[in-house]
Amino acid sequence: MDELQTTLQSLVVGDSGILIDTITMQAQDCQITAHCTTLVASCPSCATPSSSVHSRYRRRLADRTVGTTSVTLQLTVRRFRCRNHGCHQQIFAERLPALMAPHQRSTIRLAHAFQTMGLALGGRPGARVAQTLGMPTSHTTMLRRIHQLPIPPITTPTAIGIDEWAWRKRTAYGCIVVDLHTNRVLDLLPDQAQSTIVTWLRQYPSIQIVSRDRGGGFAAAITAALPTATQVVDRWHLIKNYGEALEAALLSKRAVLRAACTPPESAADVPLIDPFVGALTRTGRHGPDAPMLEADIAARRERHAVLCALHAQIHTLRATGADIVSIAKMVSTTRATVYRYLAMETPPDWVQPRRRTTLDPYKAFLLQQWSAGCQSPRQLWRMIRAQGFTGAETVVTRYLAFMGCQKTKPRPMIHPTYALNNGRIPSAGHTAQWVLLAPMRRTANQQAFLDAVAAADPDCATLITLSEQFLAMIRANEAAALTAWITAAITTTTGHLHRFAQRLRQDEAAVRAGIAGPWSNGPVEGQIHRLKLLKRQAYGRASLALLRIRLIAQPPATAPP
Ligand SMILES: [Zn+2]
Repeated sequence: MDELQTTLQSLVVGDSGILIDTITMQAQDCQITAHCTTLVASCPSCATPSSSVHSRYRRRLADRTVGTTSVTLQLTVRRFRCRNHGCHQQIFAERLPALMAPHQRSTIRLAHAFQTMGLALGGRPGARVAQTLGMPTSHTTMLRRIHQLPIPPITTPTAIGIDEWAWRKRTAYGCIVVDLHTNRVLDLLPDQAQSTIVTWLRQYPSIQIVSRDRGGGFAAAITAALPTATQVVDRWHLIKNYGEALEAALLSKRAVLRAACTPPESAADVPLIDPFVGALTRTGRHGPDAPMLEADIAARRERHAVLCALHAQIHTLRATGADIVSIAKMVSTTRATVYRYLAMETPPDWVQPRRRTTLDPYKAFLLQQWSAGCQSPRQLWRMIRAQGFTGAETVVTRYLAFMGCQKTKPRPMIHPTYALNNGRIPSAGHTAQWVLLAPMRRTANQQAFLDAVAAADPDCATLITLSEQFLAMIRANEAAALTAWITAAITTTTGHLHRFAQRLRQDEAAVRAGIAGPWSNGPVEGQIHRLKLLKRQAYGRASLALLRIRLIAQPPATAPP
């Protein structure tokens, strides 16, 4: 028994200076009474030790669970007299800093458990999990516990990343600042006003590197607050913005993209294909109006032959005078089937299988409208929807394709090599994507298509060459040729890429640092992901203070025993 008592003692209170007197179990609650064992206590005001006990009182503390049983600690605490006559405090209660904080009704380890759960889950979900674990609490207590956590002080950051986060998309934005050495969030700013950013940055003159996107707001704020800091444009944002400019430039070259899909002279013997027909026939074969497969029909014919034989057998047996039960046994079927077949004078008819669809009542109307000249599947779908059809537009599209309804306007026939994009002519967006790929990562078809585009139009050839040069610089972390590239892009292109290059020239130092340097906004983007998760976990209702503490505060260190 003594051994058990010692084990319990070390499990429940450890060496926090108290001794367990009794342990009582009541339903789902374990009541532990205990008292302090130290002879002397120090005055919290003047730190003078005292052994003069004035009185005793009971403190009730909720504690962490044992299994799923909740634990309540009933602690007898002593009041001491302070023997320092100069001290304003005449009487004080003894302190047990390892176990409990003054005026709290739970142990420190329970508070730590709540803080850890609250940080990970938030108020209400945290309270629900705590309830399940046998530590009932309210969501307001959970939130209060989180807010008690200290925000780690920002000491002397040297490299930071800054970016905006959507408080409410397209309406309200805040800023997030991340230490690029530790990848930890330093602070969350309530808005993206230049004054807010400048004020924050000015507090930390130790900052030497600031990584940012290409938005103008950050650049101006950083220049104003930290004129000597090196600004770094994030590489990912650089490629993203370049891709957008390239796509916009290619959008005016759709005629070239279409022309590049016409067959090259050397491969004239390869039969041309209509890319749309290929795509639609594929879906048509599996669509709701698809014809029965040959295999299906063969199986049905086999089954029909079996049924005909069964019909003949049942009638023959009945003619010999057998009763219904013995016929059912002999042909291995139910009596109901025997009755049904006896009632049929001829074998079951062969019915050509046909799938019923919700489109059936509207098919005649669709074909009639198509012949009358209405050849837009969407418009036809809207018309039959008004008549009560509940299916999707694709059902109509597939039916029309299956019936061979093709628009009277001829579509370009393309060489099969260029049927890259599901049989469609590649869009400007797809072409831009393939241009941005490293040449060795393009497929043979993509490369052939880009070669054809470059051959068809000198402007496109320039675009592709410039793009490959720009991305090669970024991939090699080599910015020596940047100035020459910007000059070439400004002189040889117009429109979107021209403007992109001009903006690059205005921000050239930061772009150079971004291409050649080791810093990027990757950690910031990661923390923004985390922020979004926390925001959505609270159904978008978390306050800035709560978001900030859940992002920045660390869960308490391992609780004392
Ligand atoms: Zn004192």
